[in-house]
Amino acid sequence: MYSNSSISRIAYFSMEICLEQALPTYSGGLGVLAGDTLRAAADLGLPMVGVMLLHRKGYFTQHLDAAGNQSESAADWKPEEKLELLEPVVTVEVEGRKVRVRAWRYLVRGVTGHQVPVFLLDTAVPENAEFDRTLTDTLYGGDNHYRLCQEVVLGMGGAEMLRALGYVNDVCHHINEGHASLLCLSLLERRLAGRGPWDVTEDDVNAVRKQCVFTTHTPVPAGHDKFPAEMAKRVLGATRVGLLEAARAMENDELNMTYVALRCTRFVNAVALRHKEVSQEMFPDFPVKAITNGVHAVTWTSQSFRDLFDRHIQGWRYDNMYLRYATVVPLDAIREAHTNAKEALLDEVHRRSGVRFDPSVLTIGFARRSTPYKRADLIFSDLGRLREITRHSGPLQIIFAGKAHPRDEWGKALIQKIFSAAAGLRDTIRVAYIQNYDMTLGAHFTSGVDLWLNNPMRPLEASGTSGMKAALNGVPSLSVLDGWWVEGHIEGVTGWSIGAGHTLPIDPAKDAGDLYLKLERTILPMFYGQPYQFAEVMRNSIALNGSYFNTQRMVTQYARDAYFPPGEAPVADPALAMR
Ligand SMILES: *Cc1c(COP(=O)(O)O)cnc(C)c1O
Repeated sequence: MYSNSSISRIAYFSMEICLEQALPTYSGGLGVLAGDTLRAAADLGLPMVGVMLLHRKGYFTQHLDAAGNQSESAADWKPEEKLELLEPVVTVEVEGRKVRVRAWRYLVRGVTGHQVPVFLLDTAVPENAEFDRTLTDTLYGGDNHYRLCQEVVLGMGGAEMLRALGYVNDVCHHINEGHASLLCLSLLERRLAGRGPWDVTEDDVNAVRKQCVFTTHTPVPAGHDKFPAEMAKRVLGATRVGLLEAARAMENDELNMTYVALRCTRFVNAVALRHKEVSQEMFPDFPVKAITNGVHAVTWTSQSFRDLFDRHIQGWRYDNMYLRYATVVPLDAIREAHTNAKEALLDEVHRRSGVRFDPSVLTIGFARRSTPYKRADLIFSDLGRLREITRHSGPLQIIFAGKAHPRDEWGKALIQKIFSAAAGLRDTIRVAYIQNYDMTLGAHFTSGVDLWLNNPMRPLEASGTSGMKAALNGVPSLSVLDGWWVEGHIEGVTGWSIGAGHTLPIDPAKDAGDLYLKLERTILPMFYGQPYQFAEVMRNSIALNGSYFNTQRMVTQYARDAYFPPGEAPVADPALAMR
């Protein structure tokens, strides 16, 4: 494969990767995307390896009391039960100390048996100082200084580890979000081979750029990892910061990880077309491309839909594009598969919350990280109006899930707001908030509800992927036109929009009104009055969106457009060459 290319490996660096349910090594969308990327690469037979931190203490377990107050506990796990410890121990320098880093290996196995190894970096080595032993413990825990030290381990330790494992010159590095940008510093140092930082030339930077591609995920400047130059000098040492300065990779006396990646990679990617526009405005000096995110189809399809697809759409597991032919699946079969997935979800909701939901009632799902811009409470803007809608147009019920980051007080308050709205609606609308949103719960939610609700403040949703999981399971979205929905939405065909267009001014009050109107006039009447028309929308979601918004398509695009630079890949269609 790609035998003409000088690249023989893609090393995918990500702070978090969702490898499987049993490993709490991810917090949300970024990690799920990373896991789905590696799963698709394994299916496609791509020579990829993953690099991340071990996260020995996991991302936290969420506890909610009766009023919706969140508390957290560590999600400890035992690497030795799931992973294989590798021999090499490498060192990186943090604050002038030598920190030893070892790696555990996890294997992602694809449909045809091809394996993608993932190296989980671990500093809990007895020889390390006490603080350094904690550097691979907690995902997004600790302060800014802890985070910077972690990023040295991820980027520079990861680069050293790859070298120790024999992945040397012909590697294309994919930096998934800025956390791993210091990888570029490591490559630059290696390139200088002893020359001083003042000797660095544009040729040196270009040599590093040739080996790196970058995906940005954050549509607001405040969301990018930044560290004061003082802190950078303390952690990295003055020489290394001098090298970054000489390479013009420091910005305004700050170490901005996004800026490092922009400067030191040859391909900058945003995660949806709309996000590309937003990113291009943020980074006018760097051309930004767009390969839209996807999800791993087999992972996120419920058992009942997997069986259905196996019966009607042969080959869909190997080639997700065949899902386009969902158009031939009888509507009754779609409805039956969905009924099964809905029952499985409602059983799970009952088991976890004690609340029995009614399977005949339109069920809305909302699950995502609890943080203000996602506006989980938008649907509760006017409880009187919501009651009136159910009286006129038919009943509905709503299930929520999502963790707030331990330090996100507003996100935590949002959960309490949902709890109190739920109490106020007890007489008319069933509402449940299920604790501990994770991979299993996510799969249940996105396959078992009737409508997937998404109403973030525009343009803050870079892509969003949960609506793509829903689409694969024939669950239409009701969503503001942001992120992937700008591309996936055809009104009344694949789902419905909240608000008319993504270019209009943002007016939160108007969004709530639009949401209510769509439910009242369009969705509830169709769900109860024209169930086959609703089933048609379900089927279109699979055929039009499931067939496209998957990581098999996404990784194929990355391979063709980013990893194997044009002119280096064989002339034949790389998508075919990968089979
Ligand atoms: C899919 C998924 C996400 C990301 O969904 P968004 O739509 O991007 O919010 C986050 N957490 C879990 C557990 C998921 O399964």
